[in-house]
Amino acid sequence: MHDVAIVGLGAMGSAAAFELSRRGADVIGFDRFTPPHTFGSSHGDTRIIREAYFEHPVYVPMVQRAFELWRDLERVSGSALLRQTGGLMIGAPGCALVAGALHSARMHGLAHSVLSAGDIRARFPALNPSPDMVAVWEPRAGVLSPEACVAAQLEQARRGGATLRFAEPVSHWQAEHDHVSVTTGLGRFRARRLIISAGAWVGTLLPGMRLPFRIERQVLHWFEPVGDVDPFKPERCPIHLWQFDGERFFYGFPDMGAGVKAAFHHGGDVITAADVRRDVTIDEVQALRAAMRRFVPAADGRHLTSTVCLYTNTPDEHFWVDRHPGHANVLVASPCSGHGFKFAPVIGEILADLVQDQPVRFDLGLFRWR
Ligand SMILES: Cc1cc2nc3c(=O)[nH]c(=O)nc-3n(C[C@H](O)[C@H](O)[C@H](O)COP(=O)(O)OP(=O)(O)OC[C@H]3O[C@@H](n4cnc5c(N)ncnc54)[C@H](O)[C@@H]3O)c2cc1C
Repeated sequence: MHDVAIVGLGAMGSAAAFELSRRGADVIGFDRFTPPHTFGSSHGDTRIIREAYFEHPVYVPMVQRAFELWRDLERVSGSALLRQTGGLMIGAPGCALVAGALHSARMHGLAHSVLSAGDIRARFPALNPSPDMVAVWEPRAGVLSPEACVAAQLEQARRGGATLRFAEPVSHWQAEHDHVSVTTGLGRFRARRLIISAGAWVGTLLPGMRLPFRIERQVLHWFEPVGDVDPFKPERCPIHLWQFDGERFFYGFPDMGAGVKAAFHHGGDVITAADVRRDVTIDEVQALRAAMRRFVPAADGRHLTSTVCLYTNTPDEHFWVDRHPGHANVLVASPCSGHGFKFAPVIGEILADLVQDQPVRFDLGLFRWR
């Protein structure tokens, strides 16, 4: 019998596999594909990591731990995973993005400053805020490479002795009083504890439960800069999030070598992981281009490519990391509402603590079953 079975080896599952195997646990993990892959939520070259967390100050200590753990993973794996660029949260003064980032920065004493639209334009010539916009600047923010992060976590888990089974979907699981059995097309496996980290497929592994999760189709786009690429280089262009026209959000990255990547945050079609449309329409490209024309005009060059990715949202857009309400030996860590990647190693650590009945050092109140 294994100590822990993990269903889903994307961002969260691979992090848990790494942390548990590092602690000496006997881990078996399953994935329906061969991660890192492009069918779930953890692909597309880049992910933002930021510290002045506008969503809620409770995330700040977690992201601070995540920074340590990503650097630690870089050391043990020898891979470059995190590039610091600084970050800008841009919008009208008082909007959720700006006010929330400022609140977290002040509450946790984070390095930050508030920039006017003129300051933003002068310091970061790629960006063109409207005159009424301001930004919270934070120096620690940066860019993670998600495929490399997942690959490094899996490789370290394997080195720690974890058994990782790819292209082997789990069809169902059953909890007994002292163990859990997990069934795939190739057999039945027993473990003392189970972690379900199946991302956008989580609902298929929790049949019969009335889950409020919403799977949202999100499209990422890459554009060639018009003219000089210099203003988009990571030394000159931070990651940038924008709240505009009321409740609309988009974000962009510096050019990391493959063009300028940008996307809307939310506003996508509600779908299921099984029936998501993977092709991208011209209208979708044009909609993002229109926002870029206003706020990042020099990125309005040739459209290079687009890809579809999945958000798994809770109604309040906080995470869901908790024990299964009916089975204390089963943990669910999946819906991360489109902002979970940066936290993967700290969620891996939290899952390992919960599995091993160790105290968790973070406030998980927002992430409970609800
Ligand atoms: C477009 C986009 C942009 C984002 N930007 C950011 C960002 O900038 N910063 C940030 O922090 N977060 C960001 N996020 C959110 C973040 O990427 C996700 O929260 C995170 O990747 C989710 O990880 P996961 O492990 O839950 O899912 P995944 O990485 O998708 O892993 C789930 C895994 O479960 C497997 N699986 C499913 N069903 C089964 C089964 N039955 N049996 C076996 N395996 C199964 C799947 O194959 C998959 O590999 C973004 C997400 C998207 C889609």
